[in-house]
Amino acid sequence: MPKTVGLESSIEAESALELASRAPNTMLIDGDWSGGTNSNWFDVIDPADGSKIASVVNGTQDDGLRAVAAAASAAEGWKAKSPRQRSDILMRCFHLMTERAEFLARLITAENGKALPDARGEVSYAAEFFRWYAEESPRDFSELAIAPSGANRIVVQHQPIGVAVLITPWNFPAAMATRKIAPALAAGCTCILKPAAETPLTALAIGAIMLEAGVPAGVVNIVTTTSAGEVVNAMLHDPRVRKLSFTGSTGVGKILLKEAADQVISSSMELGGNAPFIVFDDADLESAVAGAMVAKMRNGGEACTAANRFYVQRGIYDAFVQRLTDEMSALKVGRGLDAGIQLGPLITPAAVAKVERLVLDAVNRGAKIVTGGTKIAGPGYFYPPTVLSEVVPGSDILNEEIFGPVAAIIPFETQEEVIALANNTEYGLVSYIYSADHKRAFFVAGEIESGMVGVNRGIVSDAAAPFGGMKQSGLGREGGRHGMLEYVEMKYIAASW
Ligand code: ADP
Repeated sequence: MPKTVGLESSIEAESALELASRAPNTMLIDGDWSGGTNSNWFDVIDPADGSKIASVVNGTQDDGLRAVAAAASAAEGWKAKSPRQRSDILMRCFHLMTERAEFLARLITAENGKALPDARGEVSYAAEFFRWYAEESPRDFSELAIAPSGANRIVVQHQPIGVAVLITPWNFPAAMATRKIAPALAAGCTCILKPAAETPLTALAIGAIMLEAGVPAGVVNIVTTTSAGEVVNAMLHDPRVRKLSFTGSTGVGKILLKEAADQVISSSMELGGNAPFIVFDDADLESAVAGAMVAKMRNGGEACTAANRFYVQRGIYDAFVQRLTDEMSALKVGRGLDAGIQLGPLITPAAVAKVERLVLDAVNRGAKIVTGGTKIAGPGYFYPPTVLSEVVPGSDILNEEIFGPVAAIIPFETQEEVIALANNTEYGLVSYIYSADHKRAFFVAGEIESGMVGVNRGIVSDAAAPFGGMKQSGLGREGGRHGMLEYVEMKYIAASW
């Protein structure tokens, strides 16, 4: 296994196949690049042309349990390191990841398809979690208070919660991994990462970088598998596991919460979203359109934070639709590794089929296609930037996550009406509000049922801020000092002295 993954010189000339060949393709268990307990492999596909770019070891339940054993035996040693020692190692992870940023970005594009500028953005966001939690690791939030009776002291200490199982999706294969690994390690926990089978190479490359940075054997283990259900279930029934952190669909999140219940495992859940993007008449048109492009098109629309429903007030409606359409139709679509490309393919043919179904349903109910709206012929899983106007309430596209480059726009008249429309969903991850009137924007931000709100901004993600959702969008927060609390157990000691 190359110990210096991503340091090679000729990165820019490489094809998806060549990039993939430079990443590890076997599991990382106890510091060893293990071949696993069976000889099965699964394919990794380049979504830009449907070709196979790598074979990766297909882990079994036994592999999952070996990884739990490795994490459990590394736990004492990692917990015993001083916060400053853990901080130094995490900071080295940040520096090495930053040094290898271009390779990692290209690897992400090779297996996920996203356009290179998006992949570069992801790598820098992902690396930030190492830096932030390197800085956070030495901060101690212990408390010492006098009990109200005066009889004793109340001491509150934070201890690492224990072995953590971390499950990540394919849409941000680097950032979702570091957003979990970094706070877990900073808090003194060891972990097992189970990346999505569509994008295992980025996770494995990050594993190699972490070993190089000095993360001890067993502290981070990576299990790749296409049998996620079986392997994760086995891990969640191993009594050594005390933490589950999951990012993915609400459906799978609910299954995992039930499985975690058997051992009462602490669970953090980052689930689906259905973000409203609200534009009031008094908003600055150009900045609203620029924000809309970021909120909709970052990652090609494949983000749980993606604007899913555009509610635009009547007075600015026509101008907004026109300007957004200008921007959307100007985007350069193609293979994500090619120069100048702004929108790559979707992840799978199934993802394209879902977008097609949602657009067809909206059009059948009366929506107008202003641009796009027809799948691009293969090879590759491409769908064009699409704008739908006058989308009718009740359309599936307003209730389901689109996860693609389609903007569904709905007119509204009053503030009261738009708050009700925005909240009419079981999701509550993020919302976006554009208005020149800050009093109004903050009032609406307060009324909207979502864990995060962008006010006159199309992006909210920040390693320093608590990312997470209300309602069925999730439990717990990632990022900021809050993200580390998910990995600690609070111990209260009543002391008389
Ligand atoms: P998406 O629809 O974005 O692929 P999923 O929720 O299906 O989202 O997948 C997110 C992550 O959850 C992936 O790593 C996937 O392998 C994993 N996963 C899917 N089903 C299960 C399951 N039953 N148990 C545990 N993990 C699962």
